[in-house]
Amino acid sequence: PALVTVSNLAHKMSVKAADVIRHLLTLGVHASINENVDYDTATLVASEFGFEVESAEQSEQDLLPTVRLDRAEEMVSRPPVITVMGHVDHGKTSLLDAIRETHVIDQEAGGITQHIGAYKVKVPKGELVFLDTPGHEAFTAMRARGAQVTDFVVLVVAADDGVKDQTIEAINHSRAANVPIIVAVNKIDKPEADPEKVIRELSQHELIPESWGGDTLFAYVSAKFHQGIDEFLDLILLQAEMMELKARPDKRGIGAVIEARLDKGKGPVATVLVREGTLKLGDAFVAGIHYGKVRAMLDHEGKPVEEAGPATPVEVQGFAGVPEAGDVFLVVDEERIARQIGEHRQQKIREHEAAIVSPASVDELLARM
Ligand code: GDP
Ligand code: MG
Repeated sequence: PALVTVSNLAHKMSVKAADVIRHLLTLGVHASINENVDYDTATLVASEFGFEVESAEQSEQDLLPTVRLDRAEEMVSRPPVITVMGHVDHGKTSLLDAIRETHVIDQEAGGITQHIGAYKVKVPKGELVFLDTPGHEAFTAMRARGAQVTDFVVLVVAADDGVKDQTIEAINHSRAANVPIIVAVNKIDKPEADPEKVIRELSQHELIPESWGGDTLFAYVSAKFHQGIDEFLDLILLQAEMMELKARPDKRGIGAVIEARLDKGKGPVATVLVREGTLKLGDAFVAGIHYGKVRAMLDHEGKPVEEAGPATPVEVQGFAGVPEAGDVFLVVDEERIARQIGEHRQQKIREHEAAIVSPASVDELLARM
């Protein structure tokens, strides 16, 4: 399969090899300067530096002849991708339902909203993408696989219960992923609600609202009674605006698997969140150790679509096997290349399982250079 050395890739992008190695480590790939990485890993790393890998020529030595920088004028604004986290029963599902119920515009009469683990909401001022599924474990698994899918986290804290174990876990996960947190203090309708206590407790974790001299955005809502939802969505859009989220739609699709399953009729299907570029019907792709060709795509309402641009969740059919949540999804030139990469990775896993590899630290890897 397509391979390139770390030093060559760094050289083509005019960045330090050490920076490439660091990025690779965040993707879970341990490689020293003279080692090869495969084509899609290279594409991913390149995209982190704002480069596109233009073509993968099929020579055994160096299959990454050209990279080019994304130009500012090619970048367009994209909606934010948001994960809702918080302690059990604090109202995550209710909050997502409240947003969906108050803001799903094209809801067909009696239409069943297909569950694909992610959905897009149109509000008057823009669009938002919410990830439904990731519990803390899925979130961590995704991060471990390098799928940085979330732009920020909404931390739901029940005003009648305050900060609990999973609240703190959620804070830690978000921090580890370097993702900003917006606080939604929920259940403010309850007589025992004590938002001040929530603020006091969150302050101890350095989440401090502006009114207390901090810089964390706080919303106060009742998911049950749909109170404060519009103000909450405004805050989300404000956060998104501050982040100036952009992506280039006119390159091949790069994304992440949000969830996957084996469907009796359709075979393996996965919800893919496209991060960059555009995913199209007929595209060949790799996702983790699996590969395939996009046979059909459904949007979050279950409608067939022919393409999906940045920050769009779609259900994809056409996988040769069931991928895992958090697998990086990447379009490649041809099905043949997709199969090569998939099979190469499966083989590496078998080799890895056969040998016990000691994990190298960043310092060790740098020391070898
Ligand atoms: P999750 O575990 O975080 O997804 O929590 P759920 O959304 O399932 O909510 C847990 C319980 O809290 C359910 O019984 C909800 O009806 C209730 N609940 C959620 N939001 C509110 C709210 O704003 N006010 C009140 N009074 N109850 C709520
Ligand atoms: Mg729930």
